[in-house]
Amino acid sequence: MSDDKCKRCGECCRLTHPVTNADLGYCKHLKFNEDGTTTCLIYDDRINKIIYTQDGVVWYCTTIDKSKNKPKGCAYNE
Ligand code: SF4
Ligand code: SF4
Repeated sequence: MSDDKCKRCGECCRLTHPVTNADLGYCKHLKFNEDGTTTCLIYDDRINKIIYTQDGVVWYCTTIDKSKNKPKGCAYNE
């Protein structure tokens, strides 16, 4: 699996609360492009960066192979 198969849909950058499963929206570092793709604004420096905090819960960015957030349709599930 190589990065060029990523559809850049941004769905793996959508945060979900681990207890309530509430949708917390997209990461603040995600940019939506006019062509429908998305871009991480801190891509080269994203690993282990804190991307969201709520009620003492902290979300860190990680690589897609370690992420639990690979939605249906993601190229990394294929
Ligand atoms: S920091 Fe991580 S979760 Fe946020 S937009 Fe970049 S890759 Fe996605
Ligand atoms: S969900 Fe999968 S296809 Fe979409 S941006 Fe994330 S890694 Fe790429």
